[in-house]
Amino acid sequence: MNDLLPAQAARYRRLVECVSAVLARYGYSELRTPVLERTELFVRTIGEVTDIVEKEMYTFRDELNGESLTLRPEGTAACVRAAIEHNLLYGTPQRLWYEGPMFRHERPQKGRYRQFHQVGCEAIGFAGPDIDAEQIVLCARLWRELGLTDISLELNSLGDAATRAAHRGRLVAYLEQHRDLLDEDALRRLHTNPLRILDTKNPAMQQMVAGAPKLVDMLDAESAAHFDGLRARLADAGVAFTLNPRLVRGLDYYNRTVFEWVTTRLGAQGTICAGGRYDGLVEQLGGRAAPACGFAMGLERILALIEGSTALREAPLPAAYVVHQGDAAARFAVEVAEGLRDRGHAVVVHGGGGKFAAQMKRADASGARYALIVGESELAERKVSLKPLRIPGEQQLLAPDAVAALLDEQH
Ligand code: ATP
Ligand code: MG
Repeated sequence: MNDLLPAQAARYRRLVECVSAVLARYGYSELRTPVLERTELFVRTIGEVTDIVEKEMYTFRDELNGESLTLRPEGTAACVRAAIEHNLLYGTPQRLWYEGPMFRHERPQKGRYRQFHQVGCEAIGFAGPDIDAEQIVLCARLWRELGLTDISLELNSLGDAATRAAHRGRLVAYLEQHRDLLDEDALRRLHTNPLRILDTKNPAMQQMVAGAPKLVDMLDAESAAHFDGLRARLADAGVAFTLNPRLVRGLDYYNRTVFEWVTTRLGAQGTICAGGRYDGLVEQLGGRAAPACGFAMGLERILALIEGSTALREAPLPAAYVVHQGDAAARFAVEVAEGLRDRGHAVVVHGGGGKFAAQMKRADASGARYALIVGESELAERKVSLKPLRIPGEQQLLAPDAVAALLDEQH
């Protein structure tokens, strides 16, 4: 779990601003849920035989009432819970997004943290492949706006429950033939959740798993039509993809479309965004059945990808830094600064006293465009001396209104 120091926090904030601006352009509204939920919510939705539920959740008993609570490992379940609880789904479909910390007790490594951050997006109450396509196209736009070029899309369809049941029998038979290659996790899951084995990160199993029976070859007619519809829309939008028949995702609630955006630039942790359809989840959580599709992106991984790029605009530097000497001047300095802030300008007032020369060094280091100087002579006239710090120019004595007018002009 990491601290974000000011420069990193600023980048994080700008990334979220950029993502939320794109989401707003597609009509998605923000929803915020608590970081804690009842444990049962995650166990039921993500699935008992999954990495997350088996070994990654921060779960504890609330000593005050004996409830079992869990720090959220992902956002979809909570988002759906909230939508049902507050009757958001009556009659109207919802396009929602959320942002915030998620918690998983994983082995920390580059691109894998125990507290990480996601922006997630959920469209609830939409059945057609148009919404799957909308979300993928939205992601593609975001990558463009962030200046990310070497990201590719992997796509698969998991079909419906009957498809998966039929596939399961053939998959188990295949895996049993290769029992000697299965690792401990895979052996344990062979009869409880064999699909998860396809999602293995174990390099020794990759080749065997690549030869397993493919869900996408066995799709039911409706799922096949849905998948065709999605592919046609992606073609319309000019979004390229690779069909990855092994893509199954690490959570149980997915059906039909699943997708991942991957890069080769981050080593083993190359998935920056992942999602898919979860048509049964709303009903499973007690709501009126509503088909849905969503995705979540890992913000740390995206930040690592855009490190050094200019895609995230620099945060605006202060317009002015006010230096002052003496008690009365300090109070006048605050009055001037407040007036400028009223008009929307960022103004830093020097704190902590010190000689003018030392204060001017701070002014320079702040990155401000101007130093505003309030000494005895300025105070006597209720004016300030304005000294350009970034551009050549003479120092001038100005009334506060004149300073405001000058900064307004540059805004
Ligand atoms: P992975 O296959 O990398 O374990 P996952 O399938 O567990 O990912 P999801 O639950 O789909 O991941 O989460 C969506 C995205 O959130 C991932 O693609 C990744 O970018 C990010 N993510 C997931 N777990 C972590 C983590 N521990 N640290 C940082 N980012 C993470
Ligand atoms: Mg994982």
